[in-house]
Amino acid sequence: MRNVVKAEEGEIFDVELSEDLLRANEELAAKNREILRIHGIRTIEVMGSIGSGKTSLIAEMVKRLKDAYRIAFIAGDLTTTIDSDRISGQGVEVVQINTGKECHLDANLIMKALKHLNLESLDLIFIENVGNLICPAEFKLGSEKRIVVVSVTEGPYMVVKHPFIFMEADVAVINKIDLAEAMGIDPSKLERDALTINPRIKVVRTSCRTGEGIDRVVEALGL
Ligand code: MG
Ligand code: ZN
Repeated sequence: MRNVVKAEEGEIFDVELSEDLLRANEELAAKNREILRIHGIRTIEVMGSIGSGKTSLIAEMVKRLKDAYRIAFIAGDLTTTIDSDRISGQGVEVVQINTGKECHLDANLIMKALKHLNLESLDLIFIENVGNLICPAEFKLGSEKRIVVVSVTEGPYMVVKHPFIFMEADVAVINKIDLAEAMGIDPSKLERDALTINPRIKVVRTSCRTGEGIDRVVEALGL
């Protein structure tokens, strides 16, 4: 029998969990969704921890989709512009959101970012959330679909330890699949974990290095 200290709901002082704040965010997310719908823009949010391969996945999708869609990229990051620089090299309109100390994007920041884009001339927006698998689950942005990326290099427990984000996502990407054997990771275990948490989630194994699975992610998004 181990000694366990268990936080009761609402016990931890955490502004992010304030009901009012989340409700206000939901309202703004609904507005974003409506603005995007009116303009006929499909919006895909990509979540995942730092180093899981969110930017690489977006870059690979942009490569495949840029002839069919007019694409923009909204890059959330604490302080750097590394990710937006990588994607803007592909001729895509880019808006950088630096959150400073904040570990997630919210609907208000997305609304501000949308004001920097010419929505009349866009078909598709990719949003990269800040590298974190906890609070992005709760803060909806108004996107149509959400992808969560985990890489096999993050170990065997990334899925089971982050149930909320898998509950909220439409597509789970198991990335860096080319390294699974070297890492001693069984991708089918990660896949089963994701499906146990969310039976509706579509799971795709990818390698952004070899290109494996990227087409299937595009297909899973209905693009
Ligand atoms: Mg990135
Ligand atoms: Zn956060």
